Amino acid sequence: MKRTVRAALDEAAESIDATDARVLAMHAWGVSRAWLAANPREILTESQGARFDLLVAQRALGHPVAYLVGRREFWSREFAVGPDVLIPRPDTETVVESALARLSGEARVCDLGTGSGAIAVTLACERRGDHVVATDASPGALAVARANALAHGATVEFREGSWYAPVAGDAFDLIVSNPPYVAARDAHLAQGDLRFEPRGALTDESADGLASLREIIAGAPGHLLPGGWILVEHGYDQADACRSLLAAAGFRGLVSIADLAGIPRVAGGRRE
Ligand code: GLN
Repeated sequence: MKRTVRAALDEAAESIDATDARVLAMHAWGVSRAWLAANPREILTESQGARFDLLVAQRALGHPVAYLVGRREFWSREFAVGPDVLIPRPDTETVVESALARLSGEARVCDLGTGSGAIAVTLACERRGDHVVATDASPGALAVARANALAHGATVEFREGSWYAPVAGDAFDLIVSNPPYVAARDAHLAQGDLRFEPRGALTDESADGLASLREIIAGAPGHLLPGGWILVEHGYDQADACRSLLAAAGFRGLVSIADLAGIPRVAGGRRE
């Protein structure tokens, strides 16, 4: 059956979001948004139609658009993503923004649990003179992060291991992290994109979701140079808990920074 571009998009919009359908069509057919808009009467070949239908069917089952097209934009750059890594969120741009505001000179930066490398690669691109180290316990995630660093010409030193294990004996001007922080019983884990993302990147399985944040904050003083900063992303209801953890670890000048939705999302402090 011969189908036009418009017919395929209309049909897809019956089972999935119309915007998602356009993104999947662009990927399936290798065309731009502008081309789609300008060529609604173009006839699809059978293989073009089949490629698109498969993506639409997967999307209808809940597969995240970012995994289906293999990429997601973060801080105006395209990042390769796959099931081994959390899909970069706009919220996490708040971490980058607050990190950039605190970096100067030739800084030593450490991103713990880098995932796709979104934070580390962005910082390395924005601040070419810095030395950026990024760690992850997942070899699969590190492979994705390395590819992203290569694609953006970013110099990042990747090391495999859990939290501070791969940076024993090292000290930094800035430690950043977007660790798993969703509480184990949070209903969101069973909804939307989160169902398909690596569980270990979302939740630490502890009741309050604070186990990783506790470990990262407690270990930070031993890995920061005097005057160095720690900045961590946290859950919508974890700002106070993070502030207490930072205070208990001896941090000063505590900050709490809201994301674009106005929700406190990043906590930080400075080592004396
Ligand atoms: N912000 C993500 C979400 O709630 C969770 C990311 C994380 O656990 N680091 O979907």
